[in-house]
Amino acid sequence: MLTAFTSPGSFLRGNLHCHSSRSDGDPLPERVCAFYRDAGYDFVSLTDHFMERFGFPVVDTTPFRQEGFTTLMGAELHAPGLGNGEIWHLVANGLPLDFAAPAGDETAAELARRALDAGAFVSLAHPGWYGLTLEDALALPQVHAVEVFNAICDWETGRGDGGYLIDQLLNRGRTTGVIATDDAHRYHGEFCRGWVMVKATENTPDAILAALKSGAYYASQGPEIRHVEIDGDWLNVETSPVDSVWLVGHAARSKVVMGPGIAHARLPLEKFAGGWARLVVSDAEGRRAWSNPLHL
Ligand SMILES: [Zn+2]
Ligand SMILES: [Zn+2]
Repeated sequence: MLTAFTSPGSFLRGNLHCHSSRSDGDPLPERVCAFYRDAGYDFVSLTDHFMERFGFPVVDTTPFRQEGFTTLMGAELHAPGLGNGEIWHLVANGLPLDFAAPAGDETAAELARRALDAGAFVSLAHPGWYGLTLEDALALPQVHAVEVFNAICDWETGRGDGGYLIDQLLNRGRTTGVIATDDAHRYHGEFCRGWVMVKATENTPDAILAALKSGAYYASQGPEIRHVEIDGDWLNVETSPVDSVWLVGHAARSKVVMGPGIAHARLPLEKFAGGWARLVVSDAEGRRAWSNPLHL
């Protein structure tokens, strides 16, 4: 089952990927936290580029926590090199402040392993933008998630989608979580366009990190996924009003319930048996929400 809908607690809205003036973003870290706090988020993880030219920052955002708003330390980690020659972009949330700078010859697999061992929730950032392939991804140890949507890559390049990689990983037996992020740098057209809803028992960094690692979350651009439940050979879904409820699975398997304005859907699971399925919904404005995969 999907732990987001079986574990105790309530949903907290957060952004797991954004930048400040400590790397190539515009605002100061304090402003980044204030932007998200004022936008109604429950938490943010500032993830500046962990690069030599920026002094390998893991920015301490603890001074910007307030009642009802918390922060996770993080960074976007880089290493050579994808099959196409680009450097890797891995986002790590929940890093220790003293996370060591990479040695010059550290591979992406070694860097990912080190971030995982340090306790971080590790995700593959914006695969669509820079052409991350299945072969690239399979060269890493098992990480936690892939960005199904990255707002700045959508806004600036039209390549914000990562669903293709999630499906190919699942088809090859590698499970992955599904997250959406802003990757905000300018805090204009990419701000508040993709987030995670994390089911946690309290709004603390430890509780959020544990919930992320247990898979207790879904990703959204607006719609709410309120409940998902297996009922025999059927999947019952409750959402905010949406126009399409899709279930997608191995290779070309899919099912759909069409609206408009539906808040309850019942989808047959028969054709997904023995494989995986993940839920995607879309509202009247085309904004989507995505569940983590179910393994059936
Ligand atoms: Zn990046
Ligand atoms: Zn980034």
